[in-house]
Amino acid sequence: MLPLSLEKNLEAIYARHAQTLEEYAREALCRPGCAFCCTDVGAVDASTLEAARIRHRLLSMPGKEQKHVARALAENRKTLMQKGIARCAFLNAENLCHIYDIRPFSCRGLYSERECKGNGAAMRRGARDLAGQTFRQIQALDSPGYSGHIAHLLLLLDDADFRKTYLSGAFHPERIHVFGKAHGLVINRVVSPSAPVTP
Ligand code: SF4
Ligand code: SF4
Repeated sequence: MLPLSLEKNLEAIYARHAQTLEEYAREALCRPGCAFCCTDVGAVDASTLEAARIRHRLLSMPGKEQKHVARALAENRKTLMQKGIARCAFLNAENLCHIYDIRPFSCRGLYSERECKGNGAAMRRGARDLAGQTFRQIQALDSPGYSGHIAHLLLLLDDADFRKTYLSGAFHPERIHVFGKAHGLVINRVVSPSAPVTP
């Protein structure tokens, strides 16, 4: 289990971001069921901190759902390793997010002022800069951890030794060097070394 204080700080970072983003995203066209950003963007990035929360939720899902998501994650990994674009494993058949309340920041920081289909999201420059700053705060909060595609981080967290090391707060990047390099993970402490802004 993650320490409650870490989860609270993460929620506080999300809340501050959402408050500031309101200024930029007044014209956003985002609505439930509009999910081009969950199917055709190709990178649902997260931090290990966010992935650990999602893993915990995944383990509490009924067996059938759990197996369905596990299969979709395995498919995702295969597609990503072939440089393809993967529909997010957490998007259900109605194009709704299965883990909306704990979705990673990469999903929270995105909005668009035009139809995304075929064009990608249209965000204001300030909002993109803000998203970059906020993600760096999350990485700094998650300083013994890593960032990368959620499907790869969940696989890493399935490893009992890695999980034990990570949840204890110990930092041993040399132990995951090969996996991290092969799957494009970054070391949070290296990319965002400064202390997080806590509430
Ligand atoms: S970012 Fe684009 S695809 Fe995603 S919800 Fe908003 S408008 Fe729809
Ligand atoms: S986690 Fe949810 S919001 Fe994010 S890409 Fe997946 S389905 Fe979409």
